[in-house]
Amino acid sequence: MYLTLHLTTLMKVLVYSAHPYEIPFLETAAAKKHELVLTQNKLSLETVHLASGCQAIALFTGDDASAPVLEKLKTLGIRQIALRSAGFDHVDLGAAKKLGINVANVPVYSPYAIAEHAVALLMALNRKLIEGQRLIRSNDFRLNTLVGFDIHGRTVGVIGTGTIGMVFSKIMKGFGTNLIAYDPIQNNESSSMGIEYVSLDELFRRSDIISIHCPLNDHTRYMIAAAQLQLMKRECILINTSRGGIVNTEDLLDALDRGHLGGACLDVYEKEKALFFEDHQKDLLTDDLFARVISNTKVIVTGHQAFLTIEALQGISNTTIENLDSWQAGKKSPNELIP
Ligand code: NAD
Repeated sequence: MYLTLHLTTLMKVLVYSAHPYEIPFLETAAAKKHELVLTQNKLSLETVHLASGCQAIALFTGDDASAPVLEKLKTLGIRQIALRSAGFDHVDLGAAKKLGINVANVPVYSPYAIAEHAVALLMALNRKLIEGQRLIRSNDFRLNTLVGFDIHGRTVGVIGTGTIGMVFSKIMKGFGTNLIAYDPIQNNESSSMGIEYVSLDELFRRSDIISIHCPLNDHTRYMIAAAQLQLMKRECILINTSRGGIVNTEDLLDALDRGHLGGACLDVYEKEKALFFEDHQKDLLTDDLFARVISNTKVIVTGHQAFLTIEALQGISNTTIENLDSWQAGKKSPNELIP
């Protein structure tokens, strides 16, 4: 599906993975400065040819900007990639550098959107809100299966005290929790808030709730697998709103099944690219691992929607267009990922 906007401008930009919820924000931000060509298709080797005739493309997290795709983009004349996300694990930055393709992200939009969603997932799972709603709708007002625990007084382990991790920490501090954290780069604000930095193993051992807010990269892929899950308290709740590849899903399900973990709140899934953001109602679900995830009553799942607030969509669109503005003016973007 194509829709061409703003025909009068200099830079022609193909926006991959363009969804109805973000299009009005992109249109407003672009305001006749760029010609945006919108497609719901994800970027892949099969769809890369759609960028023919454009100078730049704009991507979301489900797009594939691996080396072979980037090479093809280069032959089509693409010199700029504007990411509509903070995370950039879907882009081979090394290959982009070699090919001379500029890449910029949206480093900060609304950290509140993601942190608040993490808390929403935690509360929904702990207080059994989905099950409670189901019972009410079937006129069953018994409470026997709905017992949760107070968050107040619990120990919360935050992995990654960057922008989102800090907002999450502040919200959890308001609940009256004890905060511990692991991050190779410690920040002063954490210390002044009373957050205690500990080793990763100690965080796993001491936490009642663990929330992941670090990027996915070679150091963090499967950072949480069988050995780490084994260290956690049996009633611990693990929250992942960061990237699916940080957690080994198979090991997570095994730990839940064996009663070695209390629950999991997931907004991301390691194989989400094949599923999320699209309507698969008429398809057979062939991903057995995901079938196990969604049928496990100790797991609550959303489909990478943590960012989905009005403020975040405005922020993403504005910064994406500012990145394009810089390139159009022949300047480097302040959010350039390749120095
Ligand atoms: P940020 O760069 O501000 O913070 C990331 C923090 O992680 C930094 O403090 C960094 O030092 C730390 N870190 C790096 N390696 C680490 C490691 N091995 N162990 C522990 N900490 C480590 O990023 P942010 O804006 O807070 O975003 C965090 C992540 O959230 C992003 O990388 C992205 O994957 C994810 N995210 C998800 C959504 C969503 O909709 N679900 C939206 C936006 C961002």
